[in-house]
Amino acid sequence: PCTDFDVAYFQSYSHLGIHEEMIKDHVRTDTYRNAIFKYKHLIAGKVVVDVGCGTGILSIFCAQAGAKRVYAVDASDIAVQANEVINANNLSDTVKVLHGRVEDVEIDEEVDIIISEWMGYMLLYESMLGSVITARDRWLKPGGLILPSHATLYMAPVTNPDRYSQSIDFWRNVYGIDMSAMVPLAKQCAFEEPSVETISGENVLTWPHVVKHVDCYTVTLTELETAETKFRLHSMMRAPLHGFAFWFDVEFGGPADLPTSNGDLSSDNNNCKNGGQRKRRTNPSEGLVLSTAPEDPPTHWQQTLIYFYEPIEVEQDQLIEGSVTLTQSKENRRFMNIHLEYTSGGRTLVKESVMR
Ligand code: SAH
Repeated sequence: PCTDFDVAYFQSYSHLGIHEEMIKDHVRTDTYRNAIFKYKHLIAGKVVVDVGCGTGILSIFCAQAGAKRVYAVDASDIAVQANEVINANNLSDTVKVLHGRVEDVEIDEEVDIIISEWMGYMLLYESMLGSVITARDRWLKPGGLILPSHATLYMAPVTNPDRYSQSIDFWRNVYGIDMSAMVPLAKQCAFEEPSVETISGENVLTWPHVVKHVDCYTVTLTELETAETKFRLHSMMRAPLHGFAFWFDVEFGGPADLPTSNGDLSSDNNNCKNGGQRKRRTNPSEGLVLSTAPEDPPTHWQQTLIYFYEPIEVEQDQLIEGSVTLTQSKENRRFMNIHLEYTSGGRTLVKESVMR
């Protein structure tokens, strides 16, 4: 059912600024374009559905790659402009704009390829992947292609003394005035909710932990409702631990029955203990990965940070263990509840937060 929250969500995508930001994110848009042209041989002459076409950019790339027909679906009013762009580029014979939700629109044939840019902050925020799964189950031919094909959400403990002192220690001396009384409020205001910001590889204290790996060919809607994982990580340096960073990557691989080498995350992590330089988890046979990791070129997704109110000092090699649970919010399924707890050096900290 289409809720009031959905109406607000689709309205937010009728503003051009959000599409401009996405298109200007060259890491994002170039990777999609490269993927589409890499699979040109599979797209040429075939039927594509673009789940959430926005301005129509990915649909047009698919038409340029030789698709026979592209269904460009979007529930937001941006679909009106997308249609005009497609007409103006003489692509209206190939690209059919359907202004509605993928859950509701009708397509009278099976499709060979699903393309979608569905990833939210912390990968699963906004829960748009469910709509891609719905499109897959409604229209994708057996053996069809889903781009991207796999997604992985990572986390790691971080130190961020600059952020901490800008937001918190700032109040200890304001024009020579001791405003430390503000510190508890400052902590609440700065750190109550997850924050989207850019950190670098230097902020990250350990090898990343995989929170969730999604195979878009096989994942079910139920599997997307929660992600729960335990972690055991060792700090690579002595530093105050301020919180945890989350980021993701997506791979543009072939159908599930084609050989892919995505099964070996842990050994890959172990292979790259070379001077703090974390290796990108590229897939040698497929090669195409859109990464939002701190050590990779920045994207509009940045990283999502969950700070704790108190830092814990950790020593080099000190164990940091705990668990994280992500659940869709009951109040609004596009929101996400995050329960995060960890123990290190005999102290345990717990944090509940909501990404809205
Ligand atoms: N493909 C475009 C836009 C990506 S943003 C690009 O890459 O630039 C995601 C788009 O998906 C938004 O325009 C949003 O309105 C649309 N969307 C999200 N859920 C949808 C659904 N269930 N049905 C149709 N469109 C949806």
